[in-house]
Amino acid sequence: MKQHLFGLLLLAVLVCGCAPRYVSRAYPVPVSPPVETTTEIAMADPSERGVAAPLIVIDAGHGGKDNGAEAKDGSNTMEKNLNLTTALYVRYYLKKFGFQTAMTRRDDTFIPLKQRASWSNSIHPELFVSIHYNSAPNEKAEGIEIYYYKSDDNKERSSQSKKLGESIMKNMTALTGARGRGVKHGNLAVVRETNMPAVLVEGGFISNPDDLQHLQSDVYLKKLAWGIATGIRDYVNTKKE
Ligand SMILES: [Zn+2]
Repeated sequence: MKQHLFGLLLLAVLVCGCAPRYVSRAYPVPVSPPVETTTEIAMADPSERGVAAPLIVIDAGHGGKDNGAEAKDGSNTMEKNLNLTTALYVRYYLKKFGFQTAMTRRDDTFIPLKQRASWSNSIHPELFVSIHYNSAPNEKAEGIEIYYYKSDDNKERSSQSKKLGESIMKNMTALTGARGRGVKHGNLAVVRETNMPAVLVEGGFISNPDDLQHLQSDVYLKKLAWGIATGIRDYVNTKKE
């Protein structure tokens, strides 16, 4: 019996070792995936990267002196922290899928928008995803919005960005049940100034009590991150077909 089990284990190891990099089946959401610490290299030197897997830039919005949106419930919930936590989860999942990743920030640092875009352009990633959370004067506003930059100068980039946004939106809403508010044109610096397919995800409204309650749950942030990562994976897989 023991030998039998060992054989099965060996087989499992062998099969996993030979698995293709991108698998398009639906993955279950792990309840508690480990999160890599921020000590790992963030602004990767392109020369240190391999050539096989596409490089994805993950941009955690705001940081440092720029808190982004802030909750009014006295909980001290700040957008910049939610962005970074989500970004680190996205990075973890993307690495699991075999992608290379780079982050514009990996701690509580202020980095100007133009610098985020120019640095991203300089390392030539396959695509760029910026992570934010929303706020509105009307606290009833809720759900997920995704922005891309629509431009006649580069129609191919606009159309690929939109496709990427739609793939991410589909996966995020399916997983969380959150309301999808659409994949829209937005004249936002990081999606305008980058030159690869690029989207900016607004994962929910800090100003909406229901959304905020969700965003204060680590499991929910992981679901959002999983939606973003699988949306990216599906988009890349479709592009390769
Ligand atoms: Zn923001």
